[in-house]
Amino acid sequence: MSALNAEPVVGSRIDYLAPLHDPTLDPGAVLARIPSCAADFRAEFRLTGTPDSIDTYDLITLPYPTRFGLWRASMAPAPFLSITNRMLIVRWTEADGRRRTLLFEPSDVELGTNTPYFAALARRTPGPLETLFVRRHRDVLAHLRSAGIDPAEIDYLVFDHLHTQDVRRWLGTTEPQPDLGAVTPLEPIFPNARLLVQRSELNALDHLHPQQRPWYQPDTYRDLRPEAITPVDGDLLLGPGVALIATPGHTTGNQTLVLNTDTGIWASSENAIAAECLVPRHSKLLGVRRWAQEWDQGVVVNANTVETIAAQYNSLILERSIVDVSQRDSRFPQFFPSSELTRRWTNPGTAPTFVHEHITHRGGRKGTV
Ligand SMILES: [Zn+2]
Repeated sequence: MSALNAEPVVGSRIDYLAPLHDPTLDPGAVLARIPSCAADFRAEFRLTGTPDSIDTYDLITLPYPTRFGLWRASMAPAPFLSITNRMLIVRWTEADGRRRTLLFEPSDVELGTNTPYFAALARRTPGPLETLFVRRHRDVLAHLRSAGIDPAEIDYLVFDHLHTQDVRRWLGTTEPQPDLGAVTPLEPIFPNARLLVQRSELNALDHLHPQQRPWYQPDTYRDLRPEAITPVDGDLLLGPGVALIATPGHTTGNQTLVLNTDTGIWASSENAIAAECLVPRHSKLLGVRRWAQEWDQGVVVNANTVETIAAQYNSLILERSIVDVSQRDSRFPQFFPSSELTRRWTNPGTAPTFVHEHITHRGGRKGTV
């Protein structure tokens, strides 16, 4: 790939989107640069090949405030909508024949409930209501067992950002963790895995702003095995048809998984909760199309944090500009929300117009660049 420099840490650097990451640019100037940068990226990325397989696994369906998920656009009477958190397993073969396995969004759902926002919600929600609104599917380890994948085979753990995540059990710790009942350091469940995380996301944990605090568990990162963490700066090609790109806004260190498949290019992140949020003119969600028209908004962001919302808007436009459209319904982009809006009878006015529910792909193809 002509604009890729082979760099050692993990994967190779992608330069096509670098003009978007200039910190001196105003959000409007970044937006103006997106079409040409995205076109260059698309043209080259599709030539890198495809991974061997992609599979999707449901973790949990849970309530989420409508005013966060659809920001100011929704007119739904329901104060909460439902989202389903899903994990992707992506496998590919390196040029030297080595097999690689990446887990995207492998949330430790049990420990995620300690996030300040969720803990406060649970205190206010009576048990029977929790049972009504929350559906636990299988957890990460049960899904891996059913897929016949040994945890030792996992090379990379990737989250779009670290909201709600506690990865101590996955990566292991250097010190005992009394709150988990561990009187000795935790052995890693994924002994060979590295967490790929934007350096700016890690740095934010040191000085959380009040806008950010409800969503993170910063103390759980203090004792992680340092060799299990690989900080990333910007955009990386990880394997054939597998890339990580920086998409700041929802958090400063937000990133998006980009995949090339038999149905074209996909992007997955939490920047929006439904594909229709990237094309609000096709949305039948109560209020969304009209709001986008009235305010001349191209996308509807997932806005539980609002400190850098113009950047998040730009990141969604970038994602929309990179992906192909769905082969099931060409009105909707192959943007796969890692927490996807899910229809539930308890939440009137929030039934999605279109859902992806999964990405499934078989058959690795070697790239030509
Ligand atoms: Zn988040």
